[in-house]
Amino acid sequence: MDSKIEEVYLTVSIDTECDHDRNWARSKPLTCHSINRGLPDILQPAFEQVGAVPTYLLTIEVLEDPESVDSLRNLNGNFEYGAHLHAGFVEPQKKHFDYAGVDCSDFQSSYPPEIEYQKLITITNKFEEVIGCKPTSFRAGRFGASIETIKSLQKLGYKVDSSVTPGIKWVEPNGVVDYRKAPGQPYFPGDSLVNPGSSDMSGDMPGVENRILEVPVTLMPQSFRRKPKWFRPWFSTVDEMKAIYAYHLKKYANQKVVTINMMFHSMEVIEKASPYPQTTDDVKRFVDDMQQMLQWCGEEGAKFRGLSDLHAVYQHS
Ligand SMILES: [Zn+2]
Repeated sequence: MDSKIEEVYLTVSIDTECDHDRNWARSKPLTCHSINRGLPDILQPAFEQVGAVPTYLLTIEVLEDPESVDSLRNLNGNFEYGAHLHAGFVEPQKKHFDYAGVDCSDFQSSYPPEIEYQKLITITNKFEEVIGCKPTSFRAGRFGASIETIKSLQKLGYKVDSSVTPGIKWVEPNGVVDYRKAPGQPYFPGDSLVNPGSSDMSGDMPGVENRILEVPVTLMPQSFRRKPKWFRPWFSTVDEMKAIYAYHLKKYANQKVVTINMMFHSMEVIEKASPYPQTTDDVKRFVDDMQQMLQWCGEEGAKFRGLSDLHAVYQHS
């Protein structure tokens, strides 16, 4: 089949948080090595080497920590900062005030829409106070978003959300989020987060320039009952990631633009700060795989972009 693809974009979206332990509880005592060492010494130099443009999605713990704020303000290079909300740690109805040793799996989308909106205002204002501009990209903690999330983000001036993981249904004690029918490529959501909205500008939908672009995390469905495969170091080998890339180029060959969205957490490049790399050798393998993959994508002709830059690409395509 002839491919109609004119451009492939590669974005790297990173949940950027305080250190955790191997069970996903926040570290005790609370540390932020992934911010103070991970971003300046490991991740940003690795991205610069291959020309990638990461988007660091910042949590409230990081925005509230003076040393992390210094590190974020001093980071050099080509990158974007966005916001990442873990609902139990943000007012109103904040549940935890001492974060050390705490896990909270609440989906923000399980709170009443008005409370979720207020939580988004809190983190958006904090981001602006610390970083000096408004965030325009976002991911929900535990991927717990809904169309109400999108409406709130739209009101707050965001451009891109990346909370959708196509093919996956997430279950937590406070709710269920079902992305099994979500599109695998970016879209402007309509009446539900998993349905693209009509692109015609009549009706009561605002024009796409004012709508949130959903940039789903890149996954590949697998046969039978196997879980989808992530385009993500540690979860997949370099060869597996190449296969996922090829799958998207084939499946979406009738589109002009294809986007590949690699996600992971900043803590994954600090040993024992997540359930994943536990030794320095593990971290080395993680970073090597990530770089090798990104280098290969660049050689294949993919263009690196921050999450928010994709809005203009899709608005005009
Ligand atoms: Zn998170």
